[in-house]
Amino acid sequence: TYHIHIIGGGLAGSEAAWQLAQAGFRVRLSEMRGSGDMTPAHHTDGLAELVCSNSFRSDDAESNAVGLLHQEMRALGSLILTQGDHHRVPAGSALAVDRDGFSAGVTAALEAHPNVEIVRERVDSLPEDGLAIVATGPLTAPGLADSIGRATGADALAFFDAIAPIVHRDSIDMGTAWFQSRWNKGDGHDYINCPLTKEQYLAFHQGLLDGEKTPFRDWEKDTPYFEGCMPIEVMAERGVDTLRYGPMKPVGLDDPRTGRWPYAVVQLRQDNASGTLWNIVGFQTKLKHAEQVRLFRTIPGLENAEFARLGGLHRNTFIRSPGLLDGSLRLKSRPNIRFAGQITGCEGYVESAAIGLLAGRFAAAELRGEALTPPPVETALGALLNHITGAADAELYQPMNVNFGLFPPIPGRSKKAERKKMYTDRARAALAEWLSPNNLNRRPAAEDRP
Ligand code: FAD
Repeated sequence: TYHIHIIGGGLAGSEAAWQLAQAGFRVRLSEMRGSGDMTPAHHTDGLAELVCSNSFRSDDAESNAVGLLHQEMRALGSLILTQGDHHRVPAGSALAVDRDGFSAGVTAALEAHPNVEIVRERVDSLPEDGLAIVATGPLTAPGLADSIGRATGADALAFFDAIAPIVHRDSIDMGTAWFQSRWNKGDGHDYINCPLTKEQYLAFHQGLLDGEKTPFRDWEKDTPYFEGCMPIEVMAERGVDTLRYGPMKPVGLDDPRTGRWPYAVVQLRQDNASGTLWNIVGFQTKLKHAEQVRLFRTIPGLENAEFARLGGLHRNTFIRSPGLLDGSLRLKSRPNIRFAGQITGCEGYVESAAIGLLAGRFAAAELRGEALTPPPVETALGALLNHITGAADAELYQPMNVNFGLFPPIPGRSKKAERKKMYTDRARAALAEWLSPNNLNRRPAAEDRP
């Protein structure tokens, strides 16, 4: 017998299992690898296998949001960070790991834990009753994906992320760009517009054709992607004017400096509730990252753009969490089930593990008959959770790494380097308060009831 069933022994499922086991609850951890099944990206049967890079990215907790997330996870006894630190390999200020040692370390720790039973089995439908955490990742096996689609509504389950680049608002030059909605519909502040002359447009178009692209992996080619999320370079290949009639259409947009429509326009749309992040509309792309930075900075107004994330298009199963999940990661329509990891629409090894950690802690509190107050939004954990469960627009929802744009803005003006430190100092204070013995960071479950 067990208290909770965790499906998926990747980064998120392993971390959630550890948190629950450490809290004294018995866990059944179902992992299909090792039972004859494999995902298209995994190669081994080890738990928490890193499918691609061996890096957990920056370990700088003073000026980097993912480094801050590392620090917060260490403070909460993360298995993934403990093993990551243990199997660290030299990588400058980044935390990179020996992938085999790391995965073996996670597997051994969970195998040795008296509260964890690892079962090598594929699960094909959502558990009807009993507490469960679904952490089956971006390559969730098809049977379970169908079952999730039935529970969430098919529209709420995506199989591809079509990510347009996201820019920090304060890096856009508003001397060149301007706020306006096409034909002045909306409240006038819905879009930021960047004007291009004919020469600039033609050079940009050529840049898209010449730019180096990341090819689709073989197994990605089988999954159809739709006209609605076609990469811009594919549109560019269809003809020199295709983009001018598509996402770069200038009609109804009057450049305040000329009073006229420019030759072409790049539009950005607000991406988060606080307005710190803006996405470039329709610019999902398979261009290599360095190429994107170079090319997108040729757009007038974006010369100094700082990117919260670059564009992409990958196979990636995820649910449109905002709207589906409550503040403690429970599926609103079936609250015995929590989701964790990349399937919730966070992005990255560390973020996936972080959401696994929170799902485990929320579930442990529920098993104790308590409710855990979510970490404050000023922390990296809280900002990421808030993005997934509330702040992001459910319809436009696309997977996201942790970044300072998800945090409540720091009021007033300050230099960029100083501002990062202000974010991390504020986060440390908020986490300490959340963890302080006087604030047991939980409240009676009764308070939750209406
Ligand atoms: P996973 O680690 O994938 O774990 C999910 C587990 O569930 C797997 O072990 C799987 O076998 C199991 N499972 C699936 N379906 C079932 C089922 N029905 N029953 C039982 N078990 C099941 N992030 C980075 O930070 N850096 C990278 O370099 C990087 N590269 C990536 C490359 C690819 C090709 C992909 C797809 C993603 C990449 N990511 C990367 C994104 C993401 O961080 C990883 O996918 C990460 O592993 C997600 O963690 P997770 O725990 O949510 O899912």
